[in-house]
Formats: sequence, C-alpha cells, structure tokens
Amino acid sequence: MCCNGFMYTDGEETFDLLCSSITVPFIHGSHPHPLLYYNKRAYGESKRCQSCGIGSSLVLGCMKCNYYLDFRCATLPVTVRLDRYNDHPLTLCYGEKASGKYWCDICEGETNPENWFYTSDYGATLHVFCVHGNVRYAKPGGKIKDVELWFNNTSSRPLCKNCHFRCAAPFFLTKGNELFCSYYCLLRIRMRASSISSIVIRPPWVYMNP
Ligand SMILES: [Zn+2]
Ligand SMILES: [Zn+2]
Ligand SMILES: [Zn+2]
Ligand SMILES: [Zn+2]
Repeated sequence: MCCNGFMYTDGEETFDLLCSSITVPFIHGSHPHPLLYYNKRAYGESKRCQSCGIGSSLVLGCMKCNYYLDFRCATLPVTVRLDRYNDHPLTLCYGEKASGKYWCDICEGETNPENWFYTSDYGATLHVFCVHGNVRYAKPGGKIKDVELWFNNTSSRPLCKNCHFRCAAPFFLTKGNELFCSYYCLLRIRMRASSISSIVIRPPWVYMNP
C-alpha cells in the first residue's frame, strides 16, 4: 500500500517490505508517544497525515493526541544522500517554529518550516516531496492500471495538470495524455472529476502562486 515497487495505491492493502517491517508500537522521532496501527478502511474513514496532509485509511497514530502518519511518511528515511549534494547528507526535520521566508533549493518554491522538510549542514530547507518525489522506490517505465511513471530528467520540466506547477520531483506520472507531478495531484484531479469540488487544491508542499 505504501510504495510496493511502484507507488502506493488507494485500493489495496498490500504492504511492501519496508512497510511490513514496521512493528507496533512504533517509535517515531516526530511524536513523543508510541504510534499504533489503525485500519479505518472498514469504516470508510481516513485520517489526515500530519506530515503530507493526505488522508489515508491505513495509518500509524496516537489516538489521544489525534496524531496520525501514513506509511509513506512514517517510513521516510531520516538521512538521505542526493547526487547534487554529494558531500552533504540531508536530514529530516519534523517542523519547527520559525520566522522569515524559506525557499526550497530544488523547486525554488517557498517552504513552510512548520512542515516536515529536509535540511543540510549548510542550512538548505528542501521539501520532502522534492527530495523523494512522492513516489518512492519506484521503477520508471512501470505501470499500474493506466498510470505510468517516468523519470523527470529533461531540462524542460513538465507542467502538472492539477496544480499547474512544473514538476520538481525526480518522477512524474501520466494517465493517458494527462501529466501529474505527484500521486497527490492525481488523486485530487479524480476528486474534481467526481465533482466534489472544482477548486484546484495544491499539494501541501506548494505555497507559491504559479
Ligand atoms: Zn503522509
Ligand atoms: Zn501522542
Ligand atoms: Zn521543493
Ligand atoms: Zn501537481
């Protein structure tokens, strides 16, 4: 359900190796209490992930504090190495109170330091999404149903059909001739198609106007 070689799906309860290696109670650096596993699918409920803001019915959480993480965010690596920062490992931060403006080095969009972000020893703040894409452990060229995954490696970064931003992540998705920066945007456009709302909802990591 989380990554599963390609991406997490919203229709199956299949766990990839990383997710199934989680044992509960799960100790996570973002919260002082141990997190338990909740499956809300049977009740048709979802819980909003504190990190990415996406609702999920399979979560790790602390009910007392109403604090929930989806598996994708709960398994984000604490340190990451990217080619472009070869000597500077990036560290995951769980948000902090801060004043002033912060900018992501990868997409050049604003970052909100109260959300999770990656930082380096020279002070960069990077969207989690821009570091990983929101599709992790992925094989470009892969396909699930009618959604295909591609490397975002051309110099002209394509525009996302939902949020209208240039795709900053290492991967993008296509469905027919529609292109999305993220799984998040793919879901959003489905919600718009089912006419729940015609409002464009940007991914939580995007704060700037296009
Ligand atoms: Zn999340
Ligand atoms: Zn708690
Ligand atoms: Zn970014
Ligand atoms: Zn998008």
